[in-house]
Amino acid sequence: MREVGEECGVAERIGIIGGGFSGLLCAYLLEHMLGDRAEIVVLEGSDRVGGRVRTTQLPEAGVSYEAGVAEFYDITGNPHLRRLIRHLGLETRPLRGTPYFVIDDRVVHDDLELEQVVGSRGMDRLRRFWEHGTALRPPADYALAGQMRDNDHPWLRRTFEDVLAEIDDPFCQWFTAMQCHSDLATEPPVTSGLFGMDNLLIDHPGYCSMYTLVDGNDGLVQALANRVQSPILRSAPVASVSADAERGLCVTFRADGDERSELEVDTLIVTLPPPGIRAMQWSDDRLAAAVGEHVRHHDHGTTYLRVTLLFRRRFWRRQFPEDYFVSDAFGGVTVYDQSPDDGAAGVGIQSWLLGGAHARDLSARSDDEIVAAVLAAMPSALPVRDGVLVRGCVDRWTGASGVSGLPGGVPLLPLDQRHSPDPRWPQLQFVGDYLYDSTLCGALDAVLYAVARLGARVEVRTGEPVVGVSDLFAAPASGISDLAPSSPSSAFFLDERSANRR
Ligand SMILES: Cc1cc2nc3c(=O)[nH]c(=O)nc-3n(C[C@H](O)[C@H](O)[C@H](O)COP(=O)(O)OP(=O)(O)OC[C@H]3O[C@@H](n4cnc5c(N)ncnc54)[C@H](O)[C@@H]3O)c2cc1C
Repeated sequence: MREVGEECGVAERIGIIGGGFSGLLCAYLLEHMLGDRAEIVVLEGSDRVGGRVRTTQLPEAGVSYEAGVAEFYDITGNPHLRRLIRHLGLETRPLRGTPYFVIDDRVVHDDLELEQVVGSRGMDRLRRFWEHGTALRPPADYALAGQMRDNDHPWLRRTFEDVLAEIDDPFCQWFTAMQCHSDLATEPPVTSGLFGMDNLLIDHPGYCSMYTLVDGNDGLVQALANRVQSPILRSAPVASVSADAERGLCVTFRADGDERSELEVDTLIVTLPPPGIRAMQWSDDRLAAAVGEHVRHHDHGTTYLRVTLLFRRRFWRRQFPEDYFVSDAFGGVTVYDQSPDDGAAGVGIQSWLLGGAHARDLSARSDDEIVAAVLAAMPSALPVRDGVLVRGCVDRWTGASGVSGLPGGVPLLPLDQRHSPDPRWPQLQFVGDYLYDSTLCGALDAVLYAVARLGARVEVRTGEPVVGVSDLFAAPASGISDLAPSSPSSAFFLDERSANRR
């Protein structure tokens, strides 16, 4: 590992604020691109890397659960994340299943049963909405979510609530909002119709399939951290950034407890969600104003609560054999089955992902109260017998660790402006999922844009070509499928049996 500040004829001194997926991937790709020409330092505020990707141990059962990211999206036409995971040699497992729904305590397994709830006219209305929504959002556009062309989409400037009103039936509107509420993590009046539709399409096999990492999702960030050669300073929160013509960009951070340190850099990449950016001081005044405007445009922060229940048995397997189901509790909540070894290890783990207003309101309560609220919301088909619960854990994702309920804002800004809000300082770049789609895929898009722009700048300045990153994202050798094995799921409203009966 190189030491901070070591002189070696370096062309570019690069500071990266944040040691989550984005910060670590930036460091890894920039090392690959620039080699010895770059001196890179990653400053991570907490004592661990990974940010919102976190796999947590449950020592009493000798197993782990996903406290943050639960699923990886394999988006048709956007293979970058899968190629990165393949490049890092991580083993994946597809997420199984059509989501079962719990509606008013009734378990709905497929379109035929949904029809019994919403009626045949309701099904027609839902199908028409999906036909319209998918016609306006072909997979090729979905793969480029967050790019400038989304400004032309007719649902970007309308709220999701307004778009849902087209369904012309309050119950079907409610059902559609509930269906994607956990992924959306916000409420229909405060997000766009386009972001709402994009979250519904996560369950459409023509658009997206899902998978996890066999050895835990934080294998992704650990693999990156292990490959990064540059210093990654933990417990080094950045307090301020200043920019002036003479000194350039200068970062002030705490290190070794309380000692205040400064780092002067040629390029600064900031990978924090908007509340984290707002918490830092920015000077001069023009830079502070530009960063303030960037935060105002992009800060649509929402809350997630992940409530994980460790049981002595996986007692829901017969009723809910898939990897997840969606309940109408808490405005719509996805419940993941994270039992190790498919339940063979003897214990059962359920993970409830509460998002939006319900999560925000509940987050003021104690862990015990939140766990009690989730247990009270358990479908009556799944009675929790005395003594079967070992423990409940609450992971709170709020403020600087929440997600954006309207990534990119409205309208989407041109990419150079989105990434570098002060045109005087193009070498100060912001990177993160909140700029594109609130997922790892969007964070990856943001990283690729930022490192390509930086690489081009170094090329121009030094007159020497930089190494491209395309080999890291190259298509796999022929004969190997580039996509996750497609899951057996079919999206709702595509069920042939039910459609044929009409
Ligand atoms: C509960 C939850 C579930 C999610 N589920 C999924 C999912 O299933 N699939 C998916 O694709 N995406 C999911 N996401 C989104 C995903 O987590 C993010 O897209 C991704 O983790 C973004 O990584 P990042 O590095 O940009 O940000 P972060 O992971 O937030 O990393 C930022 C880092 O900066 C550090 N930091 C903060 N302030 C400072 C400071 N002042 N100085 C230095 N360092 C600082 C933080 O400690 C953190 O390590 C989920 C998010 C949450 C909260």
